[in-house]
Parts: sequence; structure tokens; C-alpha cells
Amino acid sequence: KEELNIIQGALELRSKTVEEVLTPLTDCFMLASDAVLDFNSMSEIMQSGYTRIPVFENERSNIVDILFVKDLAFVDPDDCTPLKTITQFYKHPLHCVFNDTKLDAMLEEFKKGKSHLAIVQRVNNEGEGDPFYEVMGIVTLEDVIEEIIKSE
Ligand code: ATP
Ligand code: ATP
Repeated sequence: KEELNIIQGALELRSKTVEEVLTPLTDCFMLASDAVLDFNSMSEIMQSGYTRIPVFENERSNIVDILFVKDLAFVDPDDCTPLKTITQFYKHPLHCVFNDTKLDAMLEEFKKGKSHLAIVQRVNNEGEGDPFYEVMGIVTLEDVIEEIIKSE
């Protein structure tokens, strides 16, 4: 029975899109690019429990970096290091995908890429003005795996 669920989940990777499994931007734990790494902010980061943390500039939809918690290994909270110092040192590449990317393609990308987190964007052409790219949220390898092994 469980095996059937897993096979079912694997087959559905071809039809499901990242939009269906993403974590919406409003639910993302993120940091402002002008944040300072002091005791408070570092405690918050640790307490969030997340390994990868998007960094935004001015507004949450404008993700400019990813902070890995392991980047903080040599950061002393007493130094009040600007977050920018760390992100500019590591410069982890941002990985963006469109909302209609199928989960099987996403899994392939995660397998060959170095990062296990991607930023999901869509083309917003609903308003009066020109269409623009809009960030919807983030998707991780875990979200794809979850679709395979979930047992409903
Ligand atoms: P890892 O398991 O590799 O240590 P993690 O626990 O930080 O990483 P994942 O396992 O990749 O995160 O993802 C678990 C869930 O949390 C997924 O649904 C993912 O979309 C979500 N997620 C990952 N990072 C964040 C974040 N910064 N804010 C909110 N949700 C996140
Ligand atoms: P992240 O996805 O956050 O970059 P990571 O690169 O540290 O995490 P994983 O993505 O969990 O690690 O695993 C990548 C590969 O490295 C896997 O094949 C895993 O088995 C292997 N691996 C992870 N930790 C170790 C370790 N301490 N020693 C040897 N191999 C490891």
C-alpha cells in the first residue's frame, strides 16, 4: 500500500508544478539585507530552524541573496557584523524557476545543481501596466521529495 503511494507520487511528478508545493513568500523566514548579525538576530536565525534563508532588499519580493546557516560558523555576535559582509563573502548563487516548472524537471535540477532551494517566480500580466516577474515563494528538494513519499 505504501509502495503504491510512492509510485503514485513519483508518477505525479510529471504533472504537478512547483507552484503546487512551494512555500509562499509570506510564510518564508527571511532577512533584510541591511540586517546586523547581533545576538538577537542570530538567535532568531537559529530558532527558525532553517538551513537556507533568503535575504531581501527593501521589499520581501526582492530576494537578492541566500544566507546558509553554516556561513555563520565564524561570526561572533559581539562584533555586530553587517549581514552584507557575510553574503558578499560567500555569494551563493540564486536559483530561480518559473511557477509552471514540473516537479520531475525540478528534481533533475536539484540533483545536478549545488543548491537545494529555488526561488519561484511567475509572470504577472494581470494589471494595467507591463507584465513583470513576481516572486511567489521558495521550493526546496524537501518539497519535491514530500510529494513522492506523502501517504494520504
Ligand atoms: P535541511 O533539511 O536541508 O536542513 P531545512 O530544514 O532548512 O533544510 P528544507 O528541509 O529544505 O529546509 O525544507 C523544509 C520545508 O521548509 C519546505 O517546505 C521548505 O519549502 C520550507 N523552507 C525552507 N527554507 C525556508 C525558509 N527560510 N522559510 C520558510 N520556509 C522554508
Ligand atoms: P546542504 O544541502 O545544506 O548544502 P550538505 O551539502 O552539507 O547540505 P547534503 O546535501 O545533506 O549535505 O548531502 C550532500 C552529500 O554529502 C550526500 O551524499 C551526503 O551523504 C554527503 N554528506 C553529508 N554530510 C557528510 C559528511 N559529514 N561526511 C561525508 N559526506 C557527507
